[in-house]
Amino acid sequence: MKQGLVQVYTGEGKGKTTAALGLVLRAVGNGLRAYIVFFLKGDTVYGEQAALSKIPGVTVVRSGTGKFIHSRQITSEDKQQAKKALDAARKAMLGGDYDLVVLDEVNVAAAWNLIEVQDVISLIKEKPDNVELVLTGRYADKAVIDLADYVTVMVNIKHPFEKGIHARKGIEF
Ligand code: ATP
Ligand code: MG
Repeated sequence: MKQGLVQVYTGEGKGKTTAALGLVLRAVGNGLRAYIVFFLKGDTVYGEQAALSKIPGVTVVRSGTGKFIHSRQITSEDKQQAKKALDAARKAMLGGDYDLVVLDEVNVAAAWNLIEVQDVISLIKEKPDNVELVLTGRYADKAVIDLADYVTVMVNIKHPFEKGIHARKGIEF
């Protein structure tokens, strides 16, 4: 890729992670190589992680302790896992083996202080020209938005949870 940009998908509405997944599909369908790291993963098994692992040209990394993360009870293990994932993503971005690097829910990891927003900012500044970098998750920091080239905010108009419909396997996870 000649001109890689920085993209941010944030906001309260649905579609941030799935937009990033769609981009991974499009990229690998065009022969590009993609690296995707999922931050903040508890014990939920996500369909997309299984499917992506089967696609040649995609590297999937799942980060998290395997336990549900409460924003008010961040443990040092949560922080360690997130830091490790951020370092791995940085290596992937700088290593020359990937055209597209996705950090799913990294904005939430920064907002909840699992990682330093300053480290996310450094990562963006280090991005090689030939890599497309995608950062997803609610609460994107203003500095991250300012540095990005492409920023989309998903707006929640209605969510089925509001009428008691819980996350459905195959649709929400
Ligand atoms: P998708 O993965 O479908 O693209 P997303 O990445 O935009 O969605 P997240 O903000 O990552 O959405 O949401 C994570 C989880 O929280 C999802 O399982 C989602 O169903 C749930 N969720 C999102 N918004 C709400 C809400 N308003 N009320 C309850 N649950 C919600
Ligand atoms: Mg998401």
